Amino acid sequence: MGFLKRLINKARVKSPYVFHFNSGSCNGCDIEIIAALMPRIDLERFGVKLVGSPRHADIMLCTGPVTEQIKPRLQKIYEQMAEPKFVVAVGSCACSGGVFRSGYNVLGGVDQAIPVTAYIPGCPPKPSAITFGAYKLLEVLSEALNREAPEVAPATEKEAVEA
Ligand code: SF4
Repeated sequence: MGFLKRLINKARVKSPYVFHFNSGSCNGCDIEIIAALMPRIDLERFGVKLVGSPRHADIMLCTGPVTEQIKPRLQKIYEQMAEPKFVVAVGSCACSGGVFRSGYNVLGGVDQAIPVTAYIPGCPPKPSAITFGAYKLLEVLSEALNREAPEVAPATEKEAVEA
């Protein structure tokens, strides 16, 4: 694992780009995500930045249940994200279908369509819970990337010349 790769991994943890997708929520969870980004909670202090395209995102925040109709669209959006990519299900609906679970066309949570990395339950979850979930995800992400790229002391100039 080269120095550049380690640098990119470190930057990825310090400034994750987040794309928000609503697959049919009541907007309660969406309002709480916005609240988490506002100055009082300020999720951006961890470097989190909301982006408008899945092509720019490292993490997708999903709200709402997954229906037959939305499933292929959600899968298409997920495919547009670059690797490594992570999905966070925000709210009971995204986690399991929630109050819409018994709907005739509801398949369940987001994991019925795409792989989910983290679940933040609640109806809706508080902004502090969303922030805590995002923080834990960054911890897990950091550990995973460090395992992939163990910290190696840079070679001294002499060692580099001899190599
Ligand atoms: S979990 Fe609750 S607040 Fe969030 S989308 Fe479902 S019903 Fe609305």
